[in-house]
Amino acid sequence: MRVLGIETSCDETGVAVYDSEQGLLGHAVYSQIELHAQYGGVVPELASRDHIRKLIPLIKTVLNESHTQATEINGVAYTAGPGLIGALLVGAAVGKSLAWAWQVPAVGIHHMEGHLLAAMLEQPAPTFPFLALLVSGGHTQLVEVAALGQYTVLGESVDDAAGEAFDKTAKILGLGYPGGPALARLAEQGYADKFNFPRPMTQRPGLDFSFSGLKTCVLTTWQAQTDPTEQTRADIARAFEEAVIDTLAIKCRRALQQTGLKSLVVAGGVGANQRLRQRLLQLTKEIGVAVYYPRPLFCTDNGAMIAYAGALHLAAGHQESLAFSALPRWPLNQLSIT
Ligand code: ATP
Ligand code: MG
Ligand code: FE
Repeated sequence: MRVLGIETSCDETGVAVYDSEQGLLGHAVYSQIELHAQYGGVVPELASRDHIRKLIPLIKTVLNESHTQATEINGVAYTAGPGLIGALLVGAAVGKSLAWAWQVPAVGIHHMEGHLLAAMLEQPAPTFPFLALLVSGGHTQLVEVAALGQYTVLGESVDDAAGEAFDKTAKILGLGYPGGPALARLAEQGYADKFNFPRPMTQRPGLDFSFSGLKTCVLTTWQAQTDPTEQTRADIARAFEEAVIDTLAIKCRRALQQTGLKSLVVAGGVGANQRLRQRLLQLTKEIGVAVYYPRPLFCTDNGAMIAYAGALHLAAGHQESLAFSALPRWPLNQLSIT
């Protein structure tokens, strides 16, 4: 089965073709970062308009690069939510219309399900069941993945997501938008022991997270510096990164112990963080658990994860009416796969 995948939930236009026998045949991501950078954040209306401009040309390019004719596509998967409604509607309308024109089924995919299955595109691929650490711009969740469509959220952030904390902290330190990757680069120049930030919610039981206080801690520490040097800035970045990574690692260990699961899958943009990857590799080695990551490009938003999730759902008999759906809010544990 060959599936066209379309991702337009936020500020990346992602398109891919996945074939269940041959694997990923082609993929491309167009990022709108430059468009939104001058505003310091994503402007929803501009995002929708840019998806309108970029999506169809990108589909054409990816079909060509995949050496795929329209007649060879057996299904279309599009991100149905959660995300920005205007942006979602572009992908949903185009995806559903193409499916209708090509007379193949279409399937609306939950964006976070796409993220949590992304590592299955790699070799070796994880197999169900596994524990997923979803760390993205909008979510921080520990999810027990029993099988396709069977997701139990074991814990999540009660305020800022990990990626959001990276971005906001980067802004405090004057690193522009989106600051996560820039903050990680700056942290490489810093010393871990110059500042010590809290590991929120690790002292009490449970698997929830809270990152907004940590960000405030950085703010007050940064403002308290009378004559900050470039090294001070890097040291604060490093100490912040350490605190986030430590917190995530502590909760992963706890969730693995609690569930007895033997595989950990990391997903979402923060999963691209090299130091987080190293830390979780170390932790899982220590406790005899296998860890899986998507390639960094597939940690952030992309069409490949949507095409892949679509192929699994279509193979499982997922059916949809001609109406298309776009849900700005959509809890992961409310997926219906029939
Ligand atoms: P969601 O998937 O929850 O809707 P999103 O799609 O915006 O949110 P992603 O694209 O998965 O999120 O990830 C983007 C986030 O990842 C941003 O917050 C970004 O700062 C962060 N990020 C990307 N690379 C790194 C890195 N190397 N270190 C830390 N954070 C990073
Ligand atoms: Mg993005
Ligand atoms: Fe995402």
